[in-house]
Amino acid sequence: MDILGMNITDASAQKEPYKRFVEQLSGWYGGGELPELASQDLRFALELQRQKINSLGLDMQCTMKRSGADKNNAVGISYSDRVFNNCIVSGNLNMTRSIGSKQYQAYKDTNEIGLTAVIQDLKGGTQPDKSMPLCCPHCGAASTLGELEDGCEYCGTKFVMSELYPKVSNFFITRHEDRTERYNKNKREAAIFMAACIIPLIIMSFILGDDLAMRIAGAFVAGGIVGFILFCMKKLFETFALIGKTARGGSGTVTTLYRLNKIKKHDPEFSGEYFRDKAIALFRMAVYSSDPTQLACCKCECPEKAADIIEADIYNLNVNSCEINGDVCEVQTTLFLDCLHFNKKGKIVLKCDKFRMSMRKRLKKPTELGFSMQAVSCHSCGASFDAHNVKECPYCRTPYELEDDDWVMTALY
Ligand SMILES: [Zn+2]
Ligand SMILES: [Zn+2]
Repeated sequence: MDILGMNITDASAQKEPYKRFVEQLSGWYGGGELPELASQDLRFALELQRQKINSLGLDMQCTMKRSGADKNNAVGISYSDRVFNNCIVSGNLNMTRSIGSKQYQAYKDTNEIGLTAVIQDLKGGTQPDKSMPLCCPHCGAASTLGELEDGCEYCGTKFVMSELYPKVSNFFITRHEDRTERYNKNKREAAIFMAACIIPLIIMSFILGDDLAMRIAGAFVAGGIVGFILFCMKKLFETFALIGKTARGGSGTVTTLYRLNKIKKHDPEFSGEYFRDKAIALFRMAVYSSDPTQLACCKCECPEKAADIIEADIYNLNVNSCEINGDVCEVQTTLFLDCLHFNKKGKIVLKCDKFRMSMRKRLKKPTELGFSMQAVSCHSCGASFDAHNVKECPYCRTPYELEDDDWVMTALY
């Protein structure tokens, strides 16, 4: 079934990898190994994040348990290119995060969350080209599919297709609001508002003295009503504020789809979901890295207000403009994010953030979902190398521009 160019598929084949990935991710955040199912670029981002957290003298533990409401949780929406299918699989989990150092706990929260993983698998019946650049899953060396099947040049490990795919290329976390907690909070608040109105009236009754019983009864009724009205007014105000929050970026959806469609005319393999995945991946790398200007995918500095981010999740993405000049495509976006900040007072706070980000790519070649900046092939000599922090081919010295193959970030503010 096709809706707005997105394909709703049966994701049952990806349920098993999804379950394994959740276990592996939980293991990683518990201090263990990098998730085996994560793509090379996702592993890189996870490592950058851990380095950043550790450099601040902190440690993040994160446990994820399947929650009761996860029976029919896998929704498969997919987008594809000639070789790969990227399937978006979601599930409900109970996540406890705790961040701190040996001396103190800076942050702890438990939430019912939705974890969405982008699972990349070969399209049924397709066999990618042997020359496709690919990282060795064992040692991380830049290689090609053919070489890995024959045995990695560096570590000698041989791979079969089923060990190389599926891979998780990205994941997002969305927090569900806890309804019982909200209900209890409302009850408490209403009681406080009513008490705040009743008590002064009762005190007044005692001061005035005569008809005490009548006055106290009156105080309860009048104070209760006024208190409840005040409570409702506060709720109403909060509801409006909350509408503003849940609709963050929502008003830009139609224009965003329209603008991204311009790129699709030049590159039929392009899709909005793919672009959103790229945008958050670039943002994470830029804010987690100690020096983003060293990364081939970042052509700008990380702004001061993003320097203390230790975890970032995307909430929405708006495309403000999209210009195509020749084959160069420049896109201005607004990212709506939920980020954990480690502020100067040593506190960790969850904030709703908004960042503007510019991205650029040359549209000479169609989108390659299997592309990794850590295994690219030289346009001149064909050698494969890791391009995450180099600007030229290490073999023949031909300048290499990542934007010929993939999206790069050109501004963030
Ligand atoms: Zn290897
Ligand atoms: Zn070369």
